[in-house]
Amino acid sequence: MISQNQPPVVSRQATIKHGQYRDKIVYVPNMCDHSHILAAAMRFHGIPAQVLPMTDDESLAIGLDWCNGRECLPCFLTTGDYVRLSRQPGFDPARSVLLMASSTGACRFGQYSVLQRRILDEIGMGAMEIIVPDANNAYQGFGENPTQLRQLAWQGAVAIDSLQKLQHQYRPYEVYPGSTNSVYQTCLDHLIAAVDQGGGKHLEAVMHVIAGRFETLPIQREEPRPLIALLGEVYMRFNDYSNMNIVQRIEQAGGEVMVASMMEWFYYTNWEYARANRMVGHHLEALKTWLIDRYQFYYEAKLVAPVKHLLHHPYEVSVDRLMNHIKPYYDPSLGNETVLTLGKAVEMAHQGASGIVNVMPFSCMPGIITATIASRMRKDLDHIPWLDVMYDTQGGTNLNTRMEAFMYQAHHFMRRRTPAA
Ligand code: SF4
Repeated sequence: MISQNQPPVVSRQATIKHGQYRDKIVYVPNMCDHSHILAAAMRFHGIPAQVLPMTDDESLAIGLDWCNGRECLPCFLTTGDYVRLSRQPGFDPARSVLLMASSTGACRFGQYSVLQRRILDEIGMGAMEIIVPDANNAYQGFGENPTQLRQLAWQGAVAIDSLQKLQHQYRPYEVYPGSTNSVYQTCLDHLIAAVDQGGGKHLEAVMHVIAGRFETLPIQREEPRPLIALLGEVYMRFNDYSNMNIVQRIEQAGGEVMVASMMEWFYYTNWEYARANRMVGHHLEALKTWLIDRYQFYYEAKLVAPVKHLLHHPYEVSVDRLMNHIKPYYDPSLGNETVLTLGKAVEMAHQGASGIVNVMPFSCMPGIITATIASRMRKDLDHIPWLDVMYDTQGGTNLNTRMEAFMYQAHHFMRRRTPAA
């Protein structure tokens, strides 16, 4: 039960005063390498942030114990991570703060922090605060210098997205097994250090280093591989534990992966926030968001420039373009991740994908809508092979068999489109 004497421990918008958390640690969920960038950006702005250890079987077991069973897989895992943290010897809840992003809308994401608050109270961790940056205002209320913090996190996200694209483009063709991952890890460390120093020119310098490292990485591209678009729910797409290393499975089955980037989510929150403001006549706020969007666009071009010549598709396409893609199938104003997944599916098919993998947690509403609409969309995309992978907690039953069949179709699709391949 929630005690009436608890401190106010769920802070929406998280307008953090300078030094407010000086004696505490703000823990960031370890969703993917972007988490390290966010933590570094927070540290630069005076918030002592640390990324939680990688999710593991213990997190899942704890999450299943404490949740009700009707939540989504990312909720089990992040809850398990928090409770696992609280069991560390010497852990002090009063000096610990959890970060849990949120969003309102049709799905359950906005309820994660509410449930986690209740669970932490029940296990005696009532003093542990949860801060909740919100996607509904495009995270513009986060931190004491929210605009600068958001810009720094944005710069880091652009850099990591580009580095990951390079990793996915090079690894399937590497001459020396493990060499791409080794280069990736070194570059990632440089990127995190650059964000810790405030990004900007430090990040730009690292992007040149990254270009040099990948230009000299030995690869053999003689054998063409089908390009596979990896789309779907954002946590599953990026979290290797929860998606059971889907990128490497596709590579082992003979594909090359194109993952929908983290950047697209930032651009989409701008687009959605500006649209919502225009609808209610808040044109100044919509204009402000448009300017932020332009800044992001400008900085994306600047940071990607050093590696542009190495990437198949270096830049994000506009959200307007994605929304136009889906208009024949779904109303973009309905929102949620469905619109991004469907829009990106069309875009990546046009960019040369020979197959689409849509990942989703068991019972994920946006994922189910996407899977339902996909059959109609595929007819207009030359019947591109499509694989829906729904993750429950049962360890991916039949995933390998389904993946092999899908990759067989993707190879055929590639040859049909490009006979020389
Ligand atoms: S997008 Fe799906 S998995 Fe994520 S919170 Fe919403 S319903 Fe759950």
